[in-house]
Amino acid sequence: MKAVVTGGAGFIGSHLVERLLKEGLKVTVLDDFSTGRPENLAHLKDSPGLRLVRADVADHAAAAPHFQGADWVFHLAALADIVPSIERPMDYFRANVVGTQSVLEAARAAGVKRFVYAASSSCYGIPDSYPTPETAPIRPQYPYALTKRLGEELVLHWVQVYGLPAMSLRFFNVYGPRSRTSGTYGAVFGVFLAQKLAGQPFTVVGDGTQTRDFTFVADVAEALLCAARSSARGEAFNVGSGRPQSIKRLVELLGGPAVHIPKRPGEPDCTSADISQIRRVLGWEPRVGFEEGVRRMLENIDYWKAAPVWTPEKIARATQAWFDCLAPGAQRKP
Ligand code: UDP
Repeated sequence: MKAVVTGGAGFIGSHLVERLLKEGLKVTVLDDFSTGRPENLAHLKDSPGLRLVRADVADHAAAAPHFQGADWVFHLAALADIVPSIERPMDYFRANVVGTQSVLEAARAAGVKRFVYAASSSCYGIPDSYPTPETAPIRPQYPYALTKRLGEELVLHWVQVYGLPAMSLRFFNVYGPRSRTSGTYGAVFGVFLAQKLAGQPFTVVGDGTQTRDFTFVADVAEALLCAARSSARGEAFNVGSGRPQSIKRLVELLGGPAVHIPKRPGEPDCTSADISQIRRVLGWEPRVGFEEGVRRMLENIDYWKAAPVWTPEKIARATQAWFDCLAPGAQRKP
C-alpha cells in the first residue's frame, strides 16, 4: 500500500507519516517546506518506505506525477494561522483552495482508493450550539477559515461529480509535540511553551475562562488512519476530544505567572466538538486526556527553544490587522 501525505513535514503531517510507516505503508511526502520543516521527519529518515519530495501542491504539473500508484491520499498541505491570512488572502487562496483543487485532480487521475482532507473547525465561527455538530451553520470569520472551508467544498464536490472516494475531517485545536514554531503569532501551546522556557509570563487572552476542545495530535493521526480505512465518503466529521478545557486550566498545568491581553474580535468563548458521528461511523475514540497531553508536551519543551517569545506589546503589534479588520463595524472603514 502506498500513501501520499501532502504537508507531511508539518506538525500534524509528521505524526501521520510516523503512524503510516508503523503500519507498513510506503509513504510519499509532498511538502514545499514553507512552514513544514524537514526536522519534523528527521527521526524517520532511515525508514526505507519514506520518500520526501519538495513540491508546491498548487503547482499541478510538479505535484501530480507523485500521486501515480497511490492507494491513499491525505491532503494536509495548507497555510495556517489567522493574522497572515487577513494580511495575505491571495496566498491563502492559492495554497488552500487552488492547492486542494490541484491535489483532487491528481488523486482522481491516479484513481486513488481513499482521499482524506484535513478541514478546520474554524468553519463554525461562533457557533449557536455546544457541543457543535457537523450540521451547524458554516460561518467562516477570516480568510484562513474561509479558504479551508472552500477546500472542503471542493472535496465534497469531487465526490458528487466524479465519485472520488473522499471525506473530510474537521480538526479542533490540535496540539502536541512539534506544533509549529514559525515567526507567526499562532496557536496557544507554542506561544505559552516558548514563554515558559524564557521565564516570561503567559499572555492569557481575556480572563482565561474561555475553553477550547484541545485534541492531541496522536489521536488526530489515528482519526486520519480510521478515515482511510473506512468506506464512508462525501461526509465531514468533527475530530475533537469532546472535553473542552479552559486557558486557566492550561496555565495551571504548565505552571507559571500570567498577564492578561485583550480578547480578539470574532473569537468564540468556547469550542466543543460533537464527536458522536465519528464515533459511530468510523469507530474512532480520543485516547489522550488533557493532563497526559500537556505532560507529553512538557517532556518535549526543548523543541520551543528557538521559537519566538511573545510579549503583550509584540502581540498587540502582530494582531493589529485582526483588530482593524474584524472588530464590529471595521469593515465599513475605507
Ligand atoms: N490564547 C491565549 N493567549 C495567547 C494565545 C491564545 O490565551 O497568547 C487563547 C485564545 O484566546 C483561545 C485559545 O488560547 O481561547 C486558543 O487559541 P489559538 O489561537 O491557539 O486557537 P483558536 O483561537 O483559533 O481556537
